[in-house]
Amino acid sequence: MNDLRGDSFPEIREAVRRLCTRFPGEYWRALDRERAYPTEFVRAMTEAGFLSALIPEEFGGSGLGLRAAGAILDEVHGSGGNGAACHAQMYTMGSLLRHGSDAQKAEYLPRIASGELRLQAFGVTEPDAGTDTSRITTFAKRDGDNYVVSGRKIWISRAEHSDLMLLLCRTSRRDEAHATDGMSVLLIDMKKALGAGLAIRPIRTMLNHATTELTFDNLEVPTSSLIGEEGRGFRYILDGMNAERILIAAECIGDARFFVDRASRYAKERLVFGRPIGANQGVQFPLARAYVQMVSASLMVERAASLFEAGEPCGAEANMAKLTASEASWYAADMCLQTHGGFGFAEEFDIERKFRETRLYQVAPISTNLILSHIATHVLGQPKSF
Ligand SMILES: Cc1cc2nc3c(=O)[nH]c(=O)nc-3n(C[C@H](O)[C@H](O)[C@H](O)COP(=O)(O)OP(=O)(O)OC[C@H]3O[C@@H](n4cnc5c(N)ncnc54)[C@H](O)[C@@H]3O)c2cc1C
Repeated sequence: MNDLRGDSFPEIREAVRRLCTRFPGEYWRALDRERAYPTEFVRAMTEAGFLSALIPEEFGGSGLGLRAAGAILDEVHGSGGNGAACHAQMYTMGSLLRHGSDAQKAEYLPRIASGELRLQAFGVTEPDAGTDTSRITTFAKRDGDNYVVSGRKIWISRAEHSDLMLLLCRTSRRDEAHATDGMSVLLIDMKKALGAGLAIRPIRTMLNHATTELTFDNLEVPTSSLIGEEGRGFRYILDGMNAERILIAAECIGDARFFVDRASRYAKERLVFGRPIGANQGVQFPLARAYVQMVSASLMVERAASLFEAGEPCGAEANMAKLTASEASWYAADMCLQTHGGFGFAEEFDIERKFRETRLYQVAPISTNLILSHIATHVLGQPKSF
């Protein structure tokens, strides 16, 4: 199959593919059954230096850009694996890097780069606020040298597998005129917090994602945990969210590649009515359409990542990359399942697992409707609907 692998960072891609051969379908299937964390895979990715790709060399990382990081995650997904267990270790540190103090950066970044510390939990979503982040109510009240944090977060992934978490909370009440002001970002030491005001409840979902609900009950956090200025936290997480959307779009491209590749091979081999099913245009056309969508979306991902790397505004492009890539992967997933007929439903083919996994990206980290709303109002100047 003519694919995009050679286009960018061929050496990195080859190295990731080699690593992934040690973690075949059986590995992911067994973990999926138990909803267990892929500890060995994450260790291998850490030791190979892939998770510190975006950390500057002066702090012990490889100082690569977002396009290279995207190539890493694309290959993990294209090989049939899943980067969700560790992708946030790559980009969550961005808020610390861009807005943290020199002391915070010196203390944490080298240890995050080496893998000694995991900063891969990002606490934004709340049960009563949903997508309207300005409605979060988790509150950090100043008390001497501490903040005292109370509230609830939901869908916080990898919280049980993180040493540190970036937490978005309110430090002053919501003001209708400036709804996104008054939020702050705290770097929480999870080991200290657990049992001392923080409780974690795992949520079993349709995919293996290590996601959780968090309850904060008067958790004391030193004021030195504040990233940047108090009250400006929402702005700080926005550029991190662009990076997250672009990298997840790259994962979607990898998923789409996996599905197109598997379907393409199967369509040539499977004989029904005395000929390969791929000889039927009813089978060929969805396959061809999936390929076209994958290639088109990958160009959008490349564009968004290039703008991000150049330090240019890229909110619309990051959203469009996430939208087109997640739609390409979901279309490809459905096509691949259909092409495999009954066998698509058998666990041993890995297709039903990847189908469940890639469905998430229609909803998280931002749902399709909210992206369309952003494009309609911010790019096309339509009246706001909320
Ligand atoms: C497995 C998983 C892992 C996650 N990991 C994390 C994490 O690590 N950290 C974190 O902070 N969050 C995480 N999330 C949360 C995720 O970002 C949210 O689920 C997502 O942003 C959607 O928010 P919501 O679930 O509150 O949906 P809601 O906001 O309740 O929306 C529900 C539906 O209504 C639609 N909708 C809402 N408002 C409008 C509107 N005005 N116009 C049109 N449609 C609208 C949405 O598109 C959506 O389809 C995770 C979620 C999942 C499922």
